[in-house]
Amino acid sequence: MIVLLGGGAREHALAWKLTQDGAIVHVLPGNAGIPNSHPEISALDFPAIKSFCEEHGARLLVVGPEAPLAAGVADYFVGSDIRVFGPGRAGAMLESSKVWSKNFMRRHGVATAMSWQFRSDKLAEARAKVAELDGQVVVKFDGLAAGKGVYVCFSVDEAHAALDDLEAHHSGWFSFLLEEKLSGPEISIIGITDGNRIRLLAPSQDHKQLLADDQGPNTGGMGAYCPVPFADDNILAAIRTQIIDPTLEGIQAEQFDFKGFLYFGIMLTPQGPKLLEYNARLGDPEAEVLLPALQSSLLELLEATLDGTLAQTTVRQRPGHYVGVVLASGGYPASGFPTGFPITGLSELHPGILAFHGATSHNAAGELVTNGGRVLVLVGHGAELEDAVQYVYREAARVNFQDMYLRTDIGQRPEPVLAN
Ligand code: ATP
Repeated sequence: MIVLLGGGAREHALAWKLTQDGAIVHVLPGNAGIPNSHPEISALDFPAIKSFCEEHGARLLVVGPEAPLAAGVADYFVGSDIRVFGPGRAGAMLESSKVWSKNFMRRHGVATAMSWQFRSDKLAEARAKVAELDGQVVVKFDGLAAGKGVYVCFSVDEAHAALDDLEAHHSGWFSFLLEEKLSGPEISIIGITDGNRIRLLAPSQDHKQLLADDQGPNTGGMGAYCPVPFADDNILAAIRTQIIDPTLEGIQAEQFDFKGFLYFGIMLTPQGPKLLEYNARLGDPEAEVLLPALQSSLLELLEATLDGTLAQTTVRQRPGHYVGVVLASGGYPASGFPTGFPITGLSELHPGILAFHGATSHNAAGELVTNGGRVLVLVGHGAELEDAVQYVYREAARVNFQDMYLRTDIGQRPEPVLAN
């Protein structure tokens, strides 16, 4: 039996895939749509997780979200007979500290944007640097900020406003980065690694902004698709040699234990691919398209990672294209929007559509209701990207809840013109 931590659509996709691979999966806390969910156990309550694993004879713990990783769940189980798929606190710092991860990239020659590190008592120096760069900077808070710690600036005034905002929202001292602003299409590359080797899933793209044409505020992600048609072999080879290989060499040189998903958020700039960030986990909503696209057994890949036999595995992808569309509550990503609205239409979906639950629960009457921002992710498959897009949107029209919002252009970005 496997215990999976987390409670979003990514965890629904992980549980679905591992179940297809023949595993029995229990999810802590899970949600209303994930079988074997245990809402009474938080993914951060390590003693309760340990008792649950011991009671049920679980020997494998798979970690979905970043918070338990950053809080050291893998370190907590070291020395026990429960194996954890997910890095320890040191490995998770590749994601949880932007300053630390930038310094790691630098130490190991990973292609990335130029950057300058500041502490909050050096804001005047940061303002001078902003002026020198004519405001063409990205300001990044050093810490987990749920996607709200990054400010992409287009003028000196905007960059100063970003620094003011940081100062207003964080008490005590903090660190932040000023980064050279890059341009180009973005791509997500996610692999399964034991720190020595990596097995890559399909290249994918997410859609972070709330509104069509990548406008409006950033969200946790409004949709994703895979594979990415323009990510050809040349691009992937450059990503491998300039970003992935030096990262693995760095992990080995610094000897931290990294057994888990490793996510590379990459921008394809005219100067070549540059790493924007690492995540120490599967992306969400990327997971919801990558796992259906994965033909190989995820269970075997996870076990091989922990056994040290990843070298003997291969990763096979299913043919065709996968598109995932998030059905969100009106008002998201701001806080305070109403929830608790009944969800209808799921039973009318075509059987080929996957419906992964994010923020869902049951009300007192036993109805399925909304319970947060990103409520459901519908995933459709097609021989061509356009087929998958049409299929998933046709089916999404059957689902409804009050104030439901979805982006209408997932998987339909115009093909970028890439410099050689
Ligand atoms: P996530 O929510 O994916 O964890 P995050 O808040 O940790 O994101 P980043 O991925 O580092 O932050 O940045 C968020 C977005 O900001 C990127 O997807 C990209 O669009 C933009 N961005 C980040 N760094 C740069 C840069 N140097 N130049 C241009 N745009 C950038």
